[in-house]
Amino acid sequence: MTDPDSFRFCPCCGGRLETRNLKPGEPDRLVCSACTTPLYLDPKLVACAVVEVGDAIVLLRRGIEPRKGLWVMPGGFVDRGETVEAAALRETMEECGLRTRIKNLLGVYSYPGETVAVVVYRTERVSGDLVAGDETVESRLVHPGDIPWEELAFTSTRDALADYCRRREIS
Ligand SMILES: [Zn+2]
Repeated sequence: MTDPDSFRFCPCCGGRLETRNLKPGEPDRLVCSACTTPLYLDPKLVACAVVEVGDAIVLLRRGIEPRKGLWVMPGGFVDRGETVEAAALRETMEECGLRTRIKNLLGVYSYPGETVAVVVYRTERVSGDLVAGDETVESRLVHPGDIPWEELAFTSTRDALADYCRRREIS
């Protein structure tokens, strides 16, 4: 989680930030001592995809920290102004070379104290061959029965894949 103390200056005017309680019952906020603008620390939005290729899904082994060497599905931060769906498809193309389309929303995963909120779509391959992008050491097609549950990178990875497996059994 981002430490609120790591922000010291107002992004609007460069004034010094201080901690104030603006509304009883709400968390303390960082407020500019010069222009009084509050700096609201809201979540970072991540878009991911469980990509179906035939009856397998795509897993990527991370080549960068955090959780280097562990497995994730394609995904990354949503740019401001970009739709969440477009971000999921763009990240899939960048990370494993597949052009895909959205099938449906799998779920939204967020946890107390965590900085990110993760939106996960179920998608399917339209074209392209599986490659390993810059941040990936290995791309693999995995049957849902062979998911390496003990080697997944994030809680959201595990929760989303568990939801996917449950739903696939009943759909
Ligand atoms: Zn200011």
